[in-house]
Amino acid sequence: MTERLQMLINGAWTDGTGQERLDSHNPFDQSIWATIPLATDDDAARAVEAAHRAFRGVWRRTPGHERAALMVRLADLMEARAGDLAHVCSTDNGKVIRETTAQMRFAARNYRHFAGYADKLHGETIPLDNGDMFDFTLVEPLGVAVLITAWNSPLPLLANKLAPALATGNTVVIKPSEHASASTLAFGKLIEEAGFPPGVVNIVTGDGRIGPTLTTHPKVRKISFTGGLPTARRILQAAADRVVPVTTELGGKSPNIIFDDADLGAAVTGAVAGVFGASGQTCIAGSRLLVQDTVYKEVCDRIAEKARAIRLGNPLDPQTEMGPVANSQQYDRVLGMIASAEKAGARVAAGGKAAEGEALGGGYFIEPTVLVDVEPDLTIAREEVFGPVLCIIPFDTEDRALELANDSDFGLAAGIWTNDLRRAHRMAREVEAGVVWVNTYRASYVGAPFGGTKQSGHGRERSWHALLEYTQPKNVMIDLSGSERDPFAMKL
Ligand code: NAD
Repeated sequence: MTERLQMLINGAWTDGTGQERLDSHNPFDQSIWATIPLATDDDAARAVEAAHRAFRGVWRRTPGHERAALMVRLADLMEARAGDLAHVCSTDNGKVIRETTAQMRFAARNYRHFAGYADKLHGETIPLDNGDMFDFTLVEPLGVAVLITAWNSPLPLLANKLAPALATGNTVVIKPSEHASASTLAFGKLIEEAGFPPGVVNIVTGDGRIGPTLTTHPKVRKISFTGGLPTARRILQAAADRVVPVTTELGGKSPNIIFDDADLGAAVTGAVAGVFGASGQTCIAGSRLLVQDTVYKEVCDRIAEKARAIRLGNPLDPQTEMGPVANSQQYDRVLGMIASAEKAGARVAAGGKAAEGEALGGGYFIEPTVLVDVEPDLTIAREEVFGPVLCIIPFDTEDRALELANDSDFGLAAGIWTNDLRRAHRMAREVEAGVVWVNTYRASYVGAPFGGTKQSGHGRERSWHALLEYTQPKNVMIDLSGSERDPFAMKL
């Protein structure tokens, strides 16, 4: 049966004011398993107004410890329902249930972590030379934040934004991706059950058409966006008119670099997991593997063998290692990019085409694909594929590895595999990326800052750095002297 889902505006579940709905496809078998409302501009504006009223009326004045208690309750609920939420996520975007289950726990931990900050936000007193003036800062929330997310990991991406936004006293309007909104709507039920006041968290569904209403609304004070570069440019331009701050978490073409002194077994496994995990549909996918020439052939062979052994299947089966890509556009795009790369001279060492078979449900499956001898200037080595495709490029010296690694418009993540401690530190300092892993890849911790540089975006999520994205200091200066001063001289 197709589920008919609703949006959350001002604490009430609604179809919105329009008649239109969008289909949610299960990428495993292409069935339409749910429909979501296509929000109108009026719905989007109502959600912003509700968030604004909740900010002015209640949330801004809710003591930190009460905000924290609600967030902890939300984390408890999320952990208790992790299985159900993971099921919705995997049905909606095809990500394997092993990963979505772990992601629910990770997202819950995010709310718990930031709840700890909610009653510990404080400003500072600033000593002035002149003893009869007193100066201090107040740390204040920004107001209504619009949180826009991508389809690949809806709830962890949302937690990265929503947890610091709520902890610091902002209210929000969430716009999940039209390709995977169901899990965010299921999460909305937990917001309601946890007891957040109406309007503090609103969820509107639909595609990019309601984007401009959300991003240009005069009551919006912050936008946080996770998605692709073309959309980021549109949002930054929309926000520029009213000078609204925007956090951008965008794509990558992350280098994973294997030196010949590395533990090759761990490096090969890390490289395979780094790009084929989540069918390559992660912003941090280690999609450019740079391998020192002395171990190049051995590494290529071992990776191709491992790629061929990856178990494809139903994302809901806990044994499945790789699911389908999330939608038909992705499927066509990824296969098109592989074909163009082959034509341009890349050699296929594993995979290279659509995967078919009885166990694959007729869904959007692509074989884990390893391309070797890839020239660094090929499109496939420079553009984000967002699919299960690894390019392997040889290098000779450390300098050349660094040159190749940094020769990219992106700068999200990088992996370094070496047993040389000095080299690890040198590379970590020099590589242009917001996140660097040494002898591991795709490891996450909520207390460690996450974000990109260059065209991978700006701003940080997770850790205390995320608090800065949703707050601003207000400086207060008080004249304690009680005496009149020269009105035309600068006061100090
Ligand atoms: P997308 O840019 O197509 O869409 C992202 C969101 O923006 C969706 O909710 C979409 O409806 C919305 N949107 C579209 N037009 C808009 C507009 N004009 N105004 C406001 N919102 C608008 O991206 P996608 O295809 O959903 O996601 C894939 C991209 O996301 C990849 O590039 C991937 O690398 C990136 N990503 C980055 C991170 C990170 O943390 N850095 C994490 C996951 C995904």
